[in-house]
Amino acid sequence: MKGPLVPVEESKAIAVRVDRLLADLGRPKPPISLAQVRAVQKLDVRYYSVGNPDFMDRLAHKMRIAGKVITEPWRLVEAVKQMDLKALLLPDAKRILIDDDLHDIKKRWAEAHEITHDLLDWHKDFMYGDAEVTLLPSCEAMIEAEANLGAGLILFPGYYINDYLSGKDPLMSLAMNLANDSGNSISSAGWRIAEHSGRPTFFMICEPGSLREASVKHLAVSTPFEQRFGHIQAPQLFTIVKANARHARGGPLGAFTYALRDVEGRQHEFVFDVFSNGHSILTMGYTKV
Ligand SMILES: [Zn+2]
Repeated sequence: MKGPLVPVEESKAIAVRVDRLLADLGRPKPPISLAQVRAVQKLDVRYYSVGNPDFMDRLAHKMRIAGKVITEPWRLVEAVKQMDLKALLLPDAKRILIDDDLHDIKKRWAEAHEITHDLLDWHKDFMYGDAEVTLLPSCEAMIEAEANLGAGLILFPGYYINDYLSGKDPLMSLAMNLANDSGNSISSAGWRIAEHSGRPTFFMICEPGSLREASVKHLAVSTPFEQRFGHIQAPQLFTIVKANARHARGGPLGAFTYALRDVEGRQHEFVFDVFSNGHSILTMGYTKV
């Protein structure tokens, strides 16, 4: 449910690498044109559907699927079908393949994720196959967590987000504005806000969009949250949301405060802000100290 936090040294290396890439484009303001980013990397993109996999008739060697190394040669089309892959990177062909059935806003995330696999030196020499789950923050494989971190940095660059978030409380309205201004999904915006926050902050995605039926799918947390509230598990946060949010089909489900104990047993008042988009229940939570 909660993916691994990429260690500080690797995070810095990824941020430097992504910044260098965007600097080549003059550090543009979002929405970031992924076509321009790919042009710098000399990558192209093709879309496939499982019903019409015309250009996937080739053998894959040395593949990483969901972080696992697969050395046995596999026909690409079989790998896509069996593993339900949504996006691939073929580094030798300098090509990204994306499932055309993915929602447009998810295609953007998938493309930025594959660009990162291509960008990072220590990801080289493998072909990557990503299922829906490896494109999410909860994926436990570190190599996928790194690609997701890079995707966030490409779509919400550091030089942009520092100013954008400065002095603002991490609430759902902020995630929605950021999503709108950057051309990305609300989920990815909320995740990036939590990840970037300098105070204990979390962002939780539960599905489906009704509180009665939902369960936690993903939890993203800031480093200060992990350090001081890392013992708090996602189901505990969801129980609090269920007991305090308004039960409705969609729209704002209310904001409330709730005290959580830190590792030293001290209580801290958290603001919980809950929103349903009909498909998912999204919660941003933070404390000021
Ligand atoms: Zn990947």
